[in-house]
Formats: sequence, C-alpha cells, structure tokens
Amino acid sequence: MLRVEILTLFPEYFRGPLDHGTLRRAVAGGQLTVAVHNLRNWAEGKHRVTDDYTFGGGTGMVMKPEPFFRAVADLRTPGAYVILLSPSGRHLTQQRTVEFAAHAQLILLCGRYEGVDERVAEFLAHEEVSIGDYVVSGGELPSLVLLDSVARQLPGVLGGGCSAVNEESHSAGLLEYPQYTRPADYEGIRVPDILLSGNHQQIDSWRRTQSLLRTHERRPDLLAGADLSEAERASLSAKSHCESS
Ligand code: SAM
Repeated sequence: MLRVEILTLFPEYFRGPLDHGTLRRAVAGGQLTVAVHNLRNWAEGKHRVTDDYTFGGGTGMVMKPEPFFRAVADLRTPGAYVILLSPSGRHLTQQRTVEFAAHAQLILLCGRYEGVDERVAEFLAHEEVSIGDYVVSGGELPSLVLLDSVARQLPGVLGGGCSAVNEESHSAGLLEYPQYTRPADYEGIRVPDILLSGNHQQIDSWRRTQSLLRTHERRPDLLAGADLSEAERASLSAKSHCESS
C-alpha cells in the first residue's frame, strides 16, 4: 500500500479529483491512502505566513522553507520519498511512475507564487519533478498528475479488464496503437477491417505495427529507448531512409 502526503496551501483543490475514477478506486481498494495537509498548519505566528519577499530583489513572493521542513519532519515515516513539484525538475515519465509506485510513502510538496526557497529543493526533497516544459500556477495540478499516474501502477488498481499498464503509451517506450469502438461504421467512416476479423494473432501484429508507425511519425525520439526487434528497427530505418530521399 502506498501512502501519499500532499503539502499545499489549497487543500480543497484536491476534493474533486480524489473523489473520482482511478484515485477514488485506489483509495477504496486499499492500495493507496492520500492525506492532504494544509501547509499553514506548520507556519508560525498569528497570521501563519508561508511566503516572503525574494532576497536580492524581484517581483513576487517566495515560499518560506520552515513550514516545509517542519511538516516533512512530522509526516515522514522510514523510507519516505520527498518530491518537490517544480518546472526545473526532472520530467515525469512512465518509467518514473513505476519507480515512485514502489515507495512506501511519497511526500509531495506543492509550490505557489514565484516558487519555493531553494533550500527545500537542496536539503529536503529527494528530487524535483516537472510535468513538462511550461509553468502552471501551483504544484497542485502537477502533484495530481503525478499521483494519478502513480496510482495506475499500483497492483490491482486498473483491474483485469484494462490492458493499460503493459500496453499503454510509453510503457514499452512506444505510443499506443489506435483504438476504436462501436459503431464499426460511423457515417461511412469505417474502423479497420482487421479489427473485426476475429483473428487475434493478426490483430496483435496490426497493433504492434501501428504502435511502431505512430511512434515513428509522432515521437521518433522515443524509439532509441524502445524495446524493438532487429527486424522492426531495420524496417523503421528503411522507412526513414525512404522518407528523407
Ligand atoms: N517562478 C517559477 C519558475 O519560473 O520556475 C515558477 C513558479 S510556479 C508559478 C509556482 C509553483 O507551481 C512551482 O513552485 C511548482 O510547485 C509548480 N509548478 C509550476 N509549473 C510546474 C511544472 N511544469 N511542473 C511541476 N510543478 C510546476
């Protein structure tokens, strides 16, 4: 069971997302517990101030280090892994979600304003994690992205009916093949005949090819780290050669 603590100035932010879908199922199924904590509970003074001016000048406020250090000291259990959500962090990838899911406890630190005093990143967090090369207004959305993607990796959360963990985009370094459902013919737009054939060997082979082609077209950068056979690599390299000549 994975225990996740979220430290935020906006605990109410998490109400809806935790009450739906994968996260709700993971909590109900006992694979995940999530506790959302108001960082102000660890701030000092009558006004429980959590931010202050930037040393050296500059606009905007920076989140103070003390509430984060105190909160983590109170909440951590042996083996806790502390993550600061930050646009300067290492990108979240499917592989990282597998690694995070293996911890007993994750403590997610959500920044706001101009960000968090650097000492938190340097001396408290095990790592900084980014959800992509853009800036959102706070660490709440990024921590939900991380939490949902990690919950999908916990054994039993997706159930037997979901192919997901092994076949989903990025699991084996490839994008997923195209998916279709009924109707087989929507106003003349038909799903590929092979999917209606009932021949599962041919369907698997078609899906693998589509997955390779899609990754080649949309995210060729992924192919270097993907698990491909010699024949698949040769065929994609021939395809690249044809396209560039
Ligand atoms: N001034 C900061 C910078 O330029 O890097 C951005 C601060 S942002 C407005 C406030 C907080 O949102 C950050 O401290 C972080 O917790 C979170 N955040 C914003 N973008 C993020 C991203 N791409 N990945 C992870 N966290 C992010």
